[in-house]
Amino acid sequence: MPGRLQNKVAIITGAGSGIGLESALLFSSEGAHVVLADINLPAVQAAVELVKQRSPAVGALAVKCDVSKEREVEELIKTAVTEFGRLDIMFNNAGVMHPDDDNALNTEERIWDLTMNINLKGVWFGCKHAIAAMRLNKPDLAAGLQTGGSIINTASFVAIMGAATPQLAYTASKGAVLAMTRELAMVHAREGIRLNSLCPGPLKTPLLMDFLNTQEKRDRRLVHLPMGRFGEAIEQARAALFLASDDSSYITGTDFKVDGGLSSCYVTAL
Ligand code: NAD
Repeated sequence: MPGRLQNKVAIITGAGSGIGLESALLFSSEGAHVVLADINLPAVQAAVELVKQRSPAVGALAVKCDVSKEREVEELIKTAVTEFGRLDIMFNNAGVMHPDDDNALNTEERIWDLTMNINLKGVWFGCKHAIAAMRLNKPDLAAGLQTGGSIINTASFVAIMGAATPQLAYTASKGAVLAMTRELAMVHAREGIRLNSLCPGPLKTPLLMDFLNTQEKRDRRLVHLPMGRFGEAIEQARAALFLASDDSSYITGTDFKVDGGLSSCYVTAL
């Protein structure tokens, strides 16, 4: 049985940890060649080793890339195309949540800029250079490959819900990812390039667990989660696989929520 991403070429940013790492393992197990990018090179090198152990038939490459630097993102995409001949999937997933990100009065400008540069500008750079590469994709029917491609941008449930535990720069950056992705989806729909946002709920990954570093902080959130638990990175990877694959061929411009029902919730069950 061919995998759901057989012969496709995927770049995943932030692939050294959490959602990105689980997606790297899942996408490659479904037949994709993967280019794993992260600012933390040893982390993506370790990810590549795991991919090679579990899915030896696919290609896997580790690239050091700071997504907030356009030149590095451009190089990343060139590397994928040079190495594997095309780019079918761009998962703009890298993101940060700074511990000093706070409310309107306390958030320093440097925290705002750092967050926006990675979470928003980094996603724009990824879209910009991936779109240019995807426009060159030729169909290869024998290999099951088509023109166009799929771009997935990781936003967050905080892009659609307010919280009285503020992280203003992070929330604003994720709201902008939703708006930007929607607009790009409309611009490129007739080129067969689909763009969707992934909106994870709160997850048990280092990003959130480092931020919620006491049981009291975690309990403050848990009471609001309909399923009574944080999500797992693999649950996001499965959704990203759907958006990356041809199973979602008629889905573009959507805010794809994988939040355990959080954004539909008024009162949780006892
Ligand atoms: P994580 O911290 O486990 O992984 C993030 C990865 O991104 C790390 O490997 C880190 O080194 C990398 N990274 C950070 N800055 C980078 C940069 N400038 N360039 C390249 N790589 C960089 O986090 P995660 O929970 O897997 O989060 C992945 C995405 O999901 C992020 O965009 C995050 O905002 C979003 N998200 C997470 C949650 C959650 O609860 N964890 C909820 C909603 C959305």
